[in-house]
Amino acid sequence: MPLAHYASNAAASRGRRHLEPEARGRNNFQRDRDRIVHSTAFRRLVYKTQVFINHEGDLFRTRMTHSLEVAQLGRSIARGLGLDEDLVEAIALAHDLGHTPFGHAGQDALHDCMRAHGGFEHNLQSLRVVDQLEARYPDFDGLNLSFETREGILKHCSRRDALALEALEPGGVARRFLDGSQPSLEAQLINLADQIAYNAHDIDDGVRSGLLQFEQLAGLTGVWQHREQALADHPQLAAMPGRRLLFETIRRMLSAQVHDVIDATGAALAQARPASADEARAMQRLLRFSDAVQADAAALKRLLFASLYRHPQVMRTTEVAHQVVRELFAAYLAAPAEMPAEHGAMPDRHRAVADYVAGMTDRFAAREHRRLTGMDAFAAP
Ligand code: MG
Repeated sequence: MPLAHYASNAAASRGRRHLEPEARGRNNFQRDRDRIVHSTAFRRLVYKTQVFINHEGDLFRTRMTHSLEVAQLGRSIARGLGLDEDLVEAIALAHDLGHTPFGHAGQDALHDCMRAHGGFEHNLQSLRVVDQLEARYPDFDGLNLSFETREGILKHCSRRDALALEALEPGGVARRFLDGSQPSLEAQLINLADQIAYNAHDIDDGVRSGLLQFEQLAGLTGVWQHREQALADHPQLAAMPGRRLLFETIRRMLSAQVHDVIDATGAALAQARPASADEARAMQRLLRFSDAVQADAAALKRLLFASLYRHPQVMRTTEVAHQVVRELFAAYLAAPAEMPAEHGAMPDRHRAVADYVAGMTDRFAAREHRRLTGMDAFAAP
């Protein structure tokens, strides 16, 4: 499908914060994607986790593989809707760059530490990584990405944070949180691709870990209908060892959701008829699941929350992760010289420590915690 008239257009980008000559052979969004792939923060995603902490196993998803899965799903949907695949890929690869070590436990702990000092929020931190913290170019801080990529990275933003960003960049990426408009269709797409990816891979990782039984999902039509259909098409799956039935179910779930988004959004686009990317921004959110698939996704998310994310074993690791981040924060705050010079020299000491700790991988954070406290927090009791 050719690029639709409501797609973002790399040649008509709202541009970069620092003027740069065009790149030879690559458009603006392709260049953004390439810059993200070569960044330090992107490489660190290999050793950052979401649900299972890095040392718990080598086969669980990390933020890197999650981001690649979001990019793959995003590109498939973009192709089906005539949206810009390069922009979708750039946003997908950058969408988790601001995440702390140890998944949500790390983010919550860091937010607690920063409560009186502006707080910590991972979407805002992702933007901070690409706007300021990457230090690789002679003439500017950050990666100097296009407006459209930055807009997609800033998925959520509180009113207070939006006002602060807007003051620094009038009419910039925070404006939509103040005037209630939407981001580009490519950015809207990534929100859905993100959900499709984690709902599916958390089933896979949950079952692999032994914390979740496939049979616990029997009450969920959005999962079980695909399992039943897989068995009807391939009866031999029932007797096969390993997890082929699980994989075949997940594969079908993924395809069904991708096609559902393309069909439901295609219908919404046909009705709303946005004439341009900017007209689509001024409309209601157009990227969507059908009501039935939306309800299935919500039910699955509730079940994963109750059975996996709140599993006593996950909760125990979560508590340790909280403690590690809290103690690291306190240690660097008391002794900034323990951080690399560029962090120690920042005038806002709390923000400097938050940036440093947020950038850490799971294993580096655990190692630093051992070095600074002499304790091995993750050692088996
Ligand atoms: Mg994500």
